[in-house]
Amino acid sequence: MSELAQRIQQVEARIKSACEACGRTPDSVELLPVSKRQSTSLIVAAAELGYRRFGENYVQEACAKAQELPNFEFVLIGPLQRNKVKPALLHFQEIMSVDRPELALRLGQLAEELDIVRKIWIQVDLWGESTKLGGCEGSDLPALIQTLSLQPRLQLEGFMAIPPPEQTEAFSEVALLREVWQNQLGRALRISMGMSDDLEEAIAAGSDQVRIGTAFFGFRTGLL
Ligand SMILES: *Cc1c(COP(=O)(O)O)cnc(C)c1O
Repeated sequence: MSELAQRIQQVEARIKSACEACGRTPDSVELLPVSKRQSTSLIVAAAELGYRRFGENYVQEACAKAQELPNFEFVLIGPLQRNKVKPALLHFQEIMSVDRPELALRLGQLAEELDIVRKIWIQVDLWGESTKLGGCEGSDLPALIQTLSLQPRLQLEGFMAIPPPEQTEAFSEVALLREVWQNQLGRALRISMGMSDDLEEAIAAGSDQVRIGTAFFGFRTGLL
């Protein structure tokens, strides 16, 4: 078995036992492989093992990969600057890092012009880390959700979060936020949280999607 196949099997096993430990079914958690700074040949190898959707952080890098691999789906999990909105809409099936009303508005307008519909996730930051990683603070969420609700081409899927390391109670705060907004909006929302080092804690707190880079692909080797 290849190293990649072994790593993937280990990640799948970790997800399975994390689910069993808290009484969830393993297929209630989506594994999103994160392929930033990994080669396209490794992505192709992962596809042969059953994965066709990948998380990427950098618009330029991902656009190049999307052109090389037109039958694959890419999802943007890294920060999005206003001047990259168009390539991002064209090359990503979902954008998971929407964190401010101006960005939501621009995405909505361009999606209309391009005549496309995209799934959108709001990246939340409840821990004052946004200057480092991006993310919408709790107090700014109502305005952002209001703006998104006026963009018919953008469908709000849920919340993505990158809680500070070692602060595992942060996962429950995101789960609570989801509850509050599900009640407000009257429909289901998903939460994406948990990475290579903390997927177990995230799943225990109710995460619907874990984003796994190094544990899945190995250490990142490509240049930025
Ligand atoms: C890089 C990255 C991941 C994956 O991180 P690993 O620790 O390698 O699993 C997940 N989410 C985001 C937003 C990332 O930037």
